[in-house]
Amino acid sequence: TTRIAERVRRIKPSPSTSAADRANELRRQGKSIVNLVVGEPDFDTPLHIRQAAAAAMDKGATRYTLMAGTVELREAIVAKLKRENGLDYAMNEIIATSGAKSAIYNAFAITLEPGDEVIVPAPYWVSYPDMVLACDGQPVTVACPEANGFKLTPAQLEAAITPRTRWLLINSPSNPTGAAYTAAEYRALADVLLRHSQVMVMTDDIYEHIRFDGQKTPHILGAAPELRDRALVVNGVSKTYAMTGWRIGYVAGPADMIRAMDTLLSQSTGNCCSISQAAAAAAMNGDQSFVAESVAVYKQRRDRTLDLINAIPGLRCATPPGAFYLYVSCEGLIGKTTPAGKLLAEDGDVVMYLLESEGVAMVAGTAYGLSPYFRLSIATSIDILEEGCARISRAVAELR
Ligand code: PLP
Repeated sequence: TTRIAERVRRIKPSPSTSAADRANELRRQGKSIVNLVVGEPDFDTPLHIRQAAAAAMDKGATRYTLMAGTVELREAIVAKLKRENGLDYAMNEIIATSGAKSAIYNAFAITLEPGDEVIVPAPYWVSYPDMVLACDGQPVTVACPEANGFKLTPAQLEAAITPRTRWLLINSPSNPTGAAYTAAEYRALADVLLRHSQVMVMTDDIYEHIRFDGQKTPHILGAAPELRDRALVVNGVSKTYAMTGWRIGYVAGPADMIRAMDTLLSQSTGNCCSISQAAAAAAMNGDQSFVAESVAVYKQRRDRTLDLINAIPGLRCATPPGAFYLYVSCEGLIGKTTPAGKLLAEDGDVVMYLLESEGVAMVAGTAYGLSPYFRLSIATSIDILEEGCARISRAVAELR
């Protein structure tokens, strides 16, 4: 018997967290670890944002706020969506949440009936399927191979839709591949969605500004404004402004869904942190130069790491247009044997070998629903990335 509810027993802890925990454990045992697991910017939150938080605290912004978020924060979000995405939302169509993670979870919680299906293109962010399961839904993962740029095709979407489909979940640029949809690709996906009125679309835009190809990230609602009444736009300040610990995300969408989220959140977590809300408003309203500066640094790291990885026999990685990860194919290592005589049968074996032999911590492709790959985070210094690649190269050279 167990006292834990079935809806929790059917989900698992985040594999990124498990990998980080294992790396920390090895570090405690005295092993030198190069951690390439991290999914957060290694920069400090810009000074003017921290100062805005301090000022808000001093001015007494230490109490409950409106559930949906302060007027100041929602005005900043409305202005941001207009300025950066060309999207028009009213104040009652916005709700602030404790991170984009909570936004997505609660969006599922207010819309899924038991057995409702959510189409999740793979590779996907590890949390999506478990969030759906925790809300009694059924994740329908669709493998999007590298040959298609790790992107969902209209034909795949059409084939995945059933009468039970409630959501298509889109994350562009994507964690873990960095793949990004073009406006034309969005239009083609939207044409499929428009044939199936039961399907809504949720966009996780958290990496929209982490772009290396000079392209502005388009929005599916820009390509297909007709979808507005069945779309939820999820975003937040975590990645763009190096604010992962502040826990501010938000959702924009039709007022009935926002109202339902307001009700559910008001009976669960309550409003998100008042001080963080002031900081997030300052981030969106203030000087944006940190964004371009940090993206330039990520780009240098990406280019350097790509060169090093692609020089290792058996590994291969295409150039990602965005986000701060490399999704490296390790197909060339599958079937090889370690010095200890262990066969590398799948990407999980490769990742375990690289961790145990050289102390390089990464996450296996199985966690993201497409193998054989591993995800390497470039949200760390060039020195650490070079050291990590040197160790990977050494470990790979030992394989037979
Ligand atoms: N969405 C994706 C695709 C992510 O990779 C992450 C963080 O790793 C999040 C959402 C969570 O963002 P937040 O910190 O705002 O909860």
